[in-house]
Amino acid sequence: MARNAKNRKFVIPLTDNLRVEAVWYASGTLCLSSQAGCALGCPFCASGKNGLLRNLTREELHLQLESCRSAGIEPERLTLSGIGEPLQNLANLSRFMEDCCRQKLPVSLTTTGTPLSRLTELLQLPHNGIMLSIHAGTESIYRQLIPRGPGLLSLRQKLQERWTRLSRRQRCKLGVNYLLLEGINDQPAELGALADWLIPFPEMTLHLLYCNPVPASTYRSPSAEQTGLVHSFFRQRGINVRRANRWRQQAEGGCGTLTMRRNETNFHS
Ligand code: SF4
Repeated sequence: MARNAKNRKFVIPLTDNLRVEAVWYASGTLCLSSQAGCALGCPFCASGKNGLLRNLTREELHLQLESCRSAGIEPERLTLSGIGEPLQNLANLSRFMEDCCRQKLPVSLTTTGTPLSRLTELLQLPHNGIMLSIHAGTESIYRQLIPRGPGLLSLRQKLQERWTRLSRRQRCKLGVNYLLLEGINDQPAELGALADWLIPFPEMTLHLLYCNPVPASTYRSPSAEQTGLVHSFFRQRGINVRRANRWRQQAEGGCGTLTMRRNETNFHS
């Protein structure tokens, strides 16, 4: 892949005047939205600013894939990590994921685990990776960043219930997303608490995400040096940790930058 390759964003019109966004990462992954808007309202994220409008249908999930294909791009894999909380649209998503499985197109997804009662069902679907967004080591920071999520303790209990029933391969396909935010969750107390949270799940990978600023948000990524220190902190504790790749650091490639739009000309850039 050329170093100067660029991500492309697709704004896709729906039949009721809504528009959703999908991003093709130059690494070959197409990131799809699962809902129009999002009910979770995480404060660093543009996608949830106006709340949830509705779930996307199975056809609208396919429409995002077809928009990318009609621009001459064949994605190598999909991730349901755009606008929306996938677990809140699980019925449509599971049918879509089965369609993709038949096309031999791997699908991963990102979830806060809300509602927690559906997490078990999700773990049983044919997937290429499930990333749990937690972004915190303590409940107080978690509540600040994911105010409507299930909470760290409940999430860990639910995962522990299922853990021994998963094969090693299934366990290795699970990961934790941690959006590094300067002065919020990049300090030793928070990082140490997260390292403790991860102890029961040694096969899980921790993904350190990059924060692209969005309008009306003061959240920022820490410096490259601080990010390096955080990375070393987890490595020294034997945790499988990865930093966001360069595609996720391009404009509109970072976590929470996609929005649900109305009345805007369709484009891909
Ligand atoms: S980060 Fe995800 S769950 Fe939170 S508001 Fe944005 S789209 Fe919704």
